[in-house]
Amino acid sequence: MKLAGGLRAGVLFLVCLLVAVRPVASSFGEFTIRDELELARKFDLIIETRFPVIHDNQIKGYLQTLVDRLVAAMPPQPFPIKVTVVKNGAMNAFASAAGHITIFTGLIGNLATEDELASVIAHELAHVSERHIAKSIEQSQLVGVGSLLGILAGVLVGSQSGSDGGSAMILGSVAGARSMQLKYTRENEKDADQYGVGYLVEAGFSPSGMTNAFDTIRKMQWVGGGGDVPSYLSTHPGMDDRLAYMQERIARLPQNVRDRKSDNTSFLRAKLLVQAWFTDPNTAKAIFESSKGQKCPAVLGEAIALSRLHQIEPAKARFEAALACNPSDPLWKREYGRFAFEYGNLDVAVKNLQEAVLRDPEDLFALFFYARAVAEQGNYPASVKAMERVVKDVPRDSEVLENLARYQAAMGRNFEAHLNYAKAFAYKRQFSKYTFHMEKSEALATNAQERDRVLQVRAEISEFREILGI
Ligand SMILES: [Zn+2]
Repeated sequence: MKLAGGLRAGVLFLVCLLVAVRPVASSFGEFTIRDELELARKFDLIIETRFPVIHDNQIKGYLQTLVDRLVAAMPPQPFPIKVTVVKNGAMNAFASAAGHITIFTGLIGNLATEDELASVIAHELAHVSERHIAKSIEQSQLVGVGSLLGILAGVLVGSQSGSDGGSAMILGSVAGARSMQLKYTRENEKDADQYGVGYLVEAGFSPSGMTNAFDTIRKMQWVGGGGDVPSYLSTHPGMDDRLAYMQERIARLPQNVRDRKSDNTSFLRAKLLVQAWFTDPNTAKAIFESSKGQKCPAVLGEAIALSRLHQIEPAKARFEAALACNPSDPLWKREYGRFAFEYGNLDVAVKNLQEAVLRDPEDLFALFFYARAVAEQGNYPASVKAMERVVKDVPRDSEVLENLARYQAAMGRNFEAHLNYAKAFAYKRQFSKYTFHMEKSEALATNAQERDRVLQVRAEISEFREILGI
């Protein structure tokens, strides 16, 4: 499962998208909700299979709860609002068609409170509720799912260059994406601020999060992602005027609303993981070392950073110190279990991961590592059961599929093993291996149900190839 999958797609991918996907609207000026839903489904598939998406429920699940709280304060929407977290150091977030909100880890890592994070999401949700994207598409000459997917992909492809300096090729795609980008107008921004503050207050958050968040984004705009990333501010113009206007608006709210403060416990857990796992390990180590109060979360963060630097003994000592001060937290157990698994202490790994899973059954990461650890011990039935549960939530993750296939093969469940290997290779875009395993599973299918499953996988993969143009 991708903790931090790499992305080396570049221009070719962007160009492929532009030509491969058939435009939906034949006449300009109509971008219907059906078009938007189709776009969203394809966009999901592209993001999931091409970008370093974060599946960890401690991060993604938490963000979805913020989104859900805000959505409950909005007028009813024609589609469910879904959040995707992408590993990228830039402070950025954007709404795309059909209520899809993408948030970069840099935003979580650099904001200070839940109210601030909720504010940025509320602003993006207001772009959704006001249908700014659909309206912008209707007004542009680039109508069609293909061109819009290209633009969205271009923004993401470009943004990947932040961590590795950025090649000319990737920069080229950013320039291309920029020139085609569907920019929000200043009017759109004012609307989004206004409705956004409304949703924020209605959902019980503090409105001061809005001005604090935008102030931080303004100050940090060159930090993290690098100057070549289309920044939040370049896609959300007029920040100076907007800040003043928002301050004025918030000042008119009742005192008790202005004085609200959200509980930051869950936010700080997500932020801890983002800083510990998704920033440079030396930077991460420095961040947590400097928390001289040595609060429990900082100790865990330091342990994770040390483990990423392969300083095994110091890491082990910090993990043990972290667990000693927070002995019952499933996240602490999960992280220690992962570390123990990575460095070969299977008994410790299984014990901690099992406890983490029992206390938090929704933690797919704990389950993923638990499945791997018990497989190492030879307990394939338990590992298959756990990995099948993980696959349900991340059905296109090659690493998960490949592990599951391996355990199924070890149990002699060859039909299913070949089918899962086939999917794993298809999503890695290794199509000759995909074909090999599909043929094997087809030959092994013994009843109508199994033959149906073969057909389903074939249909799933041909759609995937059609959408990506490969
Ligand atoms: Zn905006």
